[in-house]
Amino acid sequence: MAPNENLTAVLYGIEDLRLENQSIPEINDDQVLLEIDCVGICGSDVHYLVHGRIGDFIVKKPMIIGHEASGIVAKLGKNVSTLKVGDRVAIEPGVSCRLCEFCKGGKYNLCPEMAFCATPPFDGNLRRFYAHAADFCFKLPDHVTMEEGALLEPLSVGVHACRRADVTLGDQLLILGAGPIGLVTLIIAKEMGATKVIVTDLIQGRLDVAKELGADYTLLITKEDSEETLVKKVHALLEGDAPNKTVDCSGAEATIRLGLMATKSGGVLVIVGCGSPEVKLPLIGALTREVDIRGVFRYANDYSAALAMVSSGKAAVKRLVTHHFDISETSDAFEASRNGTDGAIKVMIHCQPRNKNN
Ligand code: NAD
Ligand code: ZN
Repeated sequence: MAPNENLTAVLYGIEDLRLENQSIPEINDDQVLLEIDCVGICGSDVHYLVHGRIGDFIVKKPMIIGHEASGIVAKLGKNVSTLKVGDRVAIEPGVSCRLCEFCKGGKYNLCPEMAFCATPPFDGNLRRFYAHAADFCFKLPDHVTMEEGALLEPLSVGVHACRRADVTLGDQLLILGAGPIGLVTLIIAKEMGATKVIVTDLIQGRLDVAKELGADYTLLITKEDSEETLVKKVHALLEGDAPNKTVDCSGAEATIRLGLMATKSGGVLVIVGCGSPEVKLPLIGALTREVDIRGVFRYANDYSAALAMVSSGKAAVKRLVTHHFDISETSDAFEASRNGTDGAIKVMIHCQPRNKNN
């Protein structure tokens, strides 16, 4: 295929992901045309492939997949003055209306008009060429790689989660789940001053990576452990004390329950993980101990902090990338991601030849 053709990964329905050549998109006056470089696969991409929906977001017509991307500016809309052709950028994948009360109040992640890549009905960016709003592109310094640019997406979730938890100096933090989101939350929490961070998971290999990335303690959870045993194990790691903040990065009912029970009275449970729409929780026990529960929906105004962390060498996000594929191998990339093949954590798809600073 000639390099200027627009190879594109389109999800037609459950277990039906196809590569096809599409025309190169036109841009409007406020957009840039991007030559996409790297796209990370997220659990939600895999979920759409396997289930065709996430909650009320249902794939009803063919949708281009992918939302964790970086690219190179190939063309400018006529109103764009902040970028130039050749700039390397990270793409914040959700474009909000900029006009509603949520946008004006700075919580644009809650905008009802949000157009978010690869969330139905909006197309994503796993393709060679893609048009995006220039004000949702972040220019990368030369020393930040295109892979790191793509990783700003999950990293921004970690920044937002830690900001929602008000992580600060001296915190004892429990992170439930050591997938990409748990790991980026760990990286940010340590930089925000949490002194003791415990990370739990069912998979020892992921806990080993958490240790490498600065976890003070890890706890392997086995299905045999009762809730009471797990709470005791968490508290034992803190010499009988309890975490004052907990971030659920798994979404499983079991972890959210553990989070509520293990968090110190007066503390905070932040829930990032998205599992079943309804979960059974020991609510009264938590409310009478004034444990606050806070939700997280993606991020808002968090990309710049994520970029500053990577650019200054404080967020070693590259460690998350375990597998690389060319866009022509997209189905293999999804297989590796969904099966956790060979300890897969973050699978990266390259839309350009892999010699451009990644
Ligand atoms: P992931 O599936 O790679 O990681 C989840 C981890 O939780 C896995 O390593 C799994 O082994 C572990 N886990 C499962 N059950 C557990 C248990 N009982 N105890 C301890 N660990 C357990 O997913 P990810 O990409 O890291 O994302 C994490 C969650 O965050 C997902 O539910 C995802 O949908 C959600 N998410 C939410 C937002 C948001 O805006 N709220 C954004 C991104 C991701
Ligand atoms: Zn809005």
